[in-house]
Amino acid sequence: MAREDAVIVNALVRQALVAAQEVMGENGLNAVLRTSGLERFIGAFPPDDLNPSIQASQYARLNAAIEEFYGRGGRGMLRRIGKASFEYAVREQAALLGIAGVALKLLPERQRIKFILNSMVGALKKSNAQVEAWVDDSGVRVAYLESTCAICQGRTSETPVCHLYVGSIGEAVRWATGREHEIIETQCIAKGDPHCRFEVGDARDA
Ligand SMILES: [Zn+2]
Repeated sequence: MAREDAVIVNALVRQALVAAQEVMGENGLNAVLRTSGLERFIGAFPPDDLNPSIQASQYARLNAAIEEFYGRGGRGMLRRIGKASFEYAVREQAALLGIAGVALKLLPERQRIKFILNSMVGALKKSNAQVEAWVDDSGVRVAYLESTCAICQGRTSETPVCHLYVGSIGEAVRWATGREHEIIETQCIAKGDPHCRFEVGDARDA
């Protein structure tokens, strides 16, 4: 895989670290920062700006380290961190996400899902013009795709590995629709696919 090692900006790294600390606690986060070579962030999160922060491959290593740290529980942990990341974005980065003052109540559910997924694409592109992400509205299920996914940069796996992304998209869709929807990663670059693809499944009424 000869993908270029893209750069992730401070705001997105900060979002992930705040979320990871919320979910894992300070000791848990510090342990994985050490094993993934990111100890410089221990007690020193990057500022909330769009300056370059780390390489995508380092972000991927952090994701892999969290999964290894928790073993069988790693996938669920990463989903929770993804959920907390989106919550942080709504709280602290609503302008970047383009959702400040937006009212979705009158829109049909599918429109709301497309709105929030397109907002995520827009925020990512604002943070890095090299990002290739888009929304596929042509199928029964709305899907979110990214061919520059940082979570699986340099990783190989027989099954999809972008659990943090699944958690963020799930929370984004819940925020936009008021209901839980199952998010399924049907394609993943770590498996050899050309992009990571996340489909928004049926609503699950809580
Ligand atoms: Zn991925």
